[in-house]
Amino acid sequence: LFARPWEFVTSVARYDQLVPPAGVEVAFAGRSNVGKSSLINAVTGRNGLARTSNTPGRTQLLNFFSTADFGGAEPITIVDMPGYGYAEAPKKTVDAWTNLIFDYLRGRPNLRRVFVLVDARHGLKGNDLAALKALDTAAVTYQIVLTKADKVKPPALEKLVSQTIEAIGRRPAAFPQIIATSSEKGTGLDEVRATIAEIGGF
Ligand code: GDP
Repeated sequence: LFARPWEFVTSVARYDQLVPPAGVEVAFAGRSNVGKSSLINAVTGRNGLARTSNTPGRTQLLNFFSTADFGGAEPITIVDMPGYGYAEAPKKTVDAWTNLIFDYLRGRPNLRRVFVLVDARHGLKGNDLAALKALDTAAVTYQIVLTKADKVKPPALEKLVSQTIEAIGRRPAAFPQIIATSSEKGTGLDEVRATIAEIGGF
């Protein structure tokens, strides 16, 4: 699956712009600056696919990426969700994103999993918990992916993994496994790829 080239399909700012569901979708979500663009680029092997930037909140759309050639199989789409927790965005903009995201989460029958990215240095914060709550409400399975694992020492990472497993233990839509990644060092990328391939039935 990941030997094929991943390409940008479309950007969506409003619910009515959504393309009809086809094949399987997985989405990436997380706080602004968590390393979402870097991870999508690293996992797909396409450097410019998702924009990497130090300006939090720049990715305000749902961005859809897919592989060019499925060889007759159902396509898999990766959806890059807008980063959350960007306090400086105007309230009206935040409300518009929130509505789009909730509508998308609730109304997307082929959305099979949301990878919720969490910075390995910080762990789950208030707005991450709010996102998990929204996913539980929408009954969309989500899986925590720790980012920037290269920034913490192995014992601290181990501790965060067990704390996070405990924190999601009783959440109804949480997938119980956690993936630790570093886009910089390449850690965990194959695990993310394998997970997506498995979800897509490859
Ligand atoms: P996004 O806003 O969530 O899309 O985050 P970006 O992918 O733009 O990354 C935000 C910042 O974190 C950038 O300065 C990246 O270089 C840095 N970053 C992303 N992934 C990693 C990683 O795995 N390790 C380290 N050390 N830095 C990272």
